[in-house]
Amino acid sequence: MTDLKLGLGVVGAGLMGAEIAFVQAQAGYSVTLADRSDAILRAAMDRLHALVEKGVARGLFDAEIAGSALTRIVTSDDFDALGSAGYVTEAVFEDLDVKREVLLRLDGVCRADCVLASNTSTIPISTLASMVGADRRPLFVGTHFFSPVSRMKLVEVIPGFNTAPATLELAMQICRDAGKTPVKVKDVAGFAVNRVLHAFLIEAVRLVEEEVISVEDLDTACRLGLGHPIGPFELMDATTSRLCVQAQEIMQEAYGERFRPRPLLKQRVTAGFAGGRGQPGWRR
Ligand code: NAD
Repeated sequence: MTDLKLGLGVVGAGLMGAEIAFVQAQAGYSVTLADRSDAILRAAMDRLHALVEKGVARGLFDAEIAGSALTRIVTSDDFDALGSAGYVTEAVFEDLDVKREVLLRLDGVCRADCVLASNTSTIPISTLASMVGADRRPLFVGTHFFSPVSRMKLVEVIPGFNTAPATLELAMQICRDAGKTPVKVKDVAGFAVNRVLHAFLIEAVRLVEEEVISVEDLDTACRLGLGHPIGPFELMDATTSRLCVQAQEIMQEAYGERFRPRPLLKQRVTAGFAGGRGQPGWRR
């Protein structure tokens, strides 16, 4: 079985990948973080240093553990650096062609016994597994982290059609080592959490369309009545309404009308009110 003393790898040093590398390094693993350019990798390490600095100030991280985790992350813009890793997580753009290119390259450079884990949020794991050679498919698994990775405890762990039980167990163990709680989920569109979430978000938009309640009041109601840490509209602003429409369309295709994005949500996205860093949202 895979030797993790050889270290772990993460490809894609964006929002998710950089923090996945960090939580794995916090668990004591040496992690090679790879991306397309040195500039992207430097920016990712700067974000992690800032995260640690803020987290230590707020008492979220132990200064020594978090600081030494940063020293266990090495960066590279060359996939060959992943050649000795025992377990590599893919966290590149959510685009089938980009994932295919990256997975093919990883299949070529990684050890024969290296596990490949994908952090995709919408693409079926078995589809991604079909992009690597037949020998690698038993070593392919989905690990769906939640943002922000350093704070959110859940990981959905998804076996594909060919995933070996030992691969699933290894992925679960690495998640536990990284302080996460893994749950096993079948390889279906939206996995489990996004199905629950988007059913909820669709109903939230419907309530506003019907003028049953205001955006602000429903956010308050969900915080105070359901104990949610943030309301549905604040959440859509954080993740962007554009991403919500994309996810709902994928689930509509899989499950039918119950996931059809609400007209108001689509209209707002088209009109440039998607939220996120670049656009106004529901609350701002
Ligand atoms: P992101 O855009 O922040 O980061 C993606 C990174 O991949 C970028 O740094 C980019 O340079 C890199 N990349 C792209 N092509 C590459 C290539 N050919 N070789 C090497 N690196 C390459 O995206 P993200 O939000 O971190 O999402 C990454 C994955 O995680 C996606 O599959 C996404 O669906 C999934 N995901 C995202 C969230 C979220 O809340 N953003 C939550 C769960 C899962």
